[in-house]
Amino acid sequence: MTVSEGTRLLIVGPQGSGKGTQGVRIAQAFGVPAISTGDVFRAAVAAGSELGNQVKAIIEGGDLVSDELTSAVVRDRLSQPDAQGGFLLDGYPRNINQVSHLDEFLEGRDESLDAVIELTVPRDESIARLSLRAKEQGRTDDTEAVIANRLAIYERETAPILGVYRARGIVDAVDGVGSLDEIAARIVAALEARGLGRSAAA
Ligand code: AMP
Repeated sequence: MTVSEGTRLLIVGPQGSGKGTQGVRIAQAFGVPAISTGDVFRAAVAAGSELGNQVKAIIEGGDLVSDELTSAVVRDRLSQPDAQGGFLLDGYPRNINQVSHLDEFLEGRDESLDAVIELTVPRDESIARLSLRAKEQGRTDDTEAVIANRLAIYERETAPILGVYRARGIVDAVDGVGSLDEIAARIVAALEARGLGRSAAA
């Protein structure tokens, strides 16, 4: 049996922690695709596809799309050729039920996550960054009420998934305050300390 050598990563952090930005950088460094469920949903809404119509109101309210639909979208994306040699997931799984869905899917391929990067940022800092992004990008889910809803959902539903992954010994908590280069260097150092060298992706 050939076991695929790619690196399988997940980045987790509250909205405004910079996980999207860092996710793209780290994915590039490791030569794997960055897969953001938020980006997939936003692109679907922008394209006016059937998926977009299904999720538009949910995203605009800052609520979670159903686990079944989200997991189906991720399974489909992870089945694409470019994700066979590893991937970096951003924004999925987002609750314990989605962790089970992902486990089941990866087990079916004899795969598992190699590391989970937990980007830690104080709540005030997250809110400040989100408000700035709302002004810069005009995202419809970055209004004050929706931001509060999304952060509450993060604390209630998403933070608990870290306990599951911590029990597996695969979580690296990384300080998410600093320059983009500093934070990226911290993440790479944590992953290299696990033997997940960038050259190993080749
Ligand atoms: P994000 O850019 O990751 O903050 O995602 C934007 C929005 O997409 C979220 O507020 C949810 O409405 C939806 N979304 C993204 N990922 C998920 C997920 N794993 N489960 C459910 N909804 C999601």
